[in-house]
Amino acid sequence: MIPLIKTILPPKEQLLEKLGEVLYSGYIAQGSYVDEFEKEFGKFNGSKNNLSVNSGSSALHIALILAGVEPGDEVISTAITAEPTNTVISQTGAKIVWADIDLNTGNLCPDSVEAKITDKTKAIMVVDYAGTPVNVERFLEIEKKYNISVIQDSAHALGATYNGQKLGNHFKYTTFSFQAIKHMTTVDGGMICIKNDEEFERAKLIRWFGIKKGISRLENDIKVQGYKYHMNNVNAAVGLCQLEQIEGIIDKYIANGKYFDQELKNIEGIELMEYYPGSQPSYWLYTMKVQKREKFIKHLSDNGIMASELHKRNDTHSIFSESKVKLPNVDKFEEEWVHIPCGWWVEEKDRKHIVEVIKKGWL
Ligand SMILES: *Cc1c(COP(=O)(O)O)cnc(C)c1O
Repeated sequence: MIPLIKTILPPKEQLLEKLGEVLYSGYIAQGSYVDEFEKEFGKFNGSKNNLSVNSGSSALHIALILAGVEPGDEVISTAITAEPTNTVISQTGAKIVWADIDLNTGNLCPDSVEAKITDKTKAIMVVDYAGTPVNVERFLEIEKKYNISVIQDSAHALGATYNGQKLGNHFKYTTFSFQAIKHMTTVDGGMICIKNDEEFERAKLIRWFGIKKGISRLENDIKVQGYKYHMNNVNAAVGLCQLEQIEGIIDKYIANGKYFDQELKNIEGIELMEYYPGSQPSYWLYTMKVQKREKFIKHLSDNGIMASELHKRNDTHSIFSESKVKLPNVDKFEEEWVHIPCGWWVEEKDRKHIVEVIKKGWL
């Protein structure tokens, strides 16, 4: 079976050598490996202030704190995402306000977001779902017009670009996840890219109990609520090995995505997704809309290919019931969306096979 998602680790010898080095270095907490990982990530991503943390969820929580989100505030978000995007919002005590999606991309619709803004809105959470960049241009406009921070959850979109720059270089806060099945994993981990230098310094405090590193505990006076969100040297060592191969890995996702964009055009029963002008997705999943989805999934499964919706629309969870509203485009998208394998493990022969099987028909 060609899987939909798959964990990637660096070559065994390389990783075990690095791990042996760090594990017996006498320093496994947050230290020089973490500093180096952030520096190397910055080289890869082009972003200036990169703060590594222990998960993508922690990165999102820090972004919400920096954006000033407090209990009783409203945060506009999308139902088409993985749950952590939204459980982290509820963790702050803020209320989630769902906006609808653009039906042709699956990402949050800027007009719908604009219509949901009230004087309680503190932040807008946008998600580059499946690796497709959001409408960066419009959300930057909205951020400026209403003076409301946009947080970009790019957990699916490492290596995706807008106007030639990798994500992490456009909004005040962009977060990544290095959980097991993302483009790149540090076993668990995350990153937050922060535009503003002062906020970057505050984020460092929030990451580690509010304690300032580099000066002694006795001289520290905790002034901000912090958390145990730091990355440790062991995860950072994994990340350093991963960064050595990440460009080539992301290129494979993109090459497969472009191949499907080309080969699956004009097939009866399939509607391909669109991308916003200036953006290059990194295709963490290859998403499309299909008629008779159950039959489609079974047809692919019978031919050794895994296909699935993978995610459940988030607004149906009981914990978010207070936020329930009508989302007509999410309703339509929910009926037809499906993902097919697109990652580094999908070889030339596999993607040909996938296209042939789909072309045989399932309707
Ligand atoms: C994986 C994921 C997260 C959370 O990342 P963790 O590292 O698992 O905490 C957040 N948002 C999206 C869209 C994700 O897919």
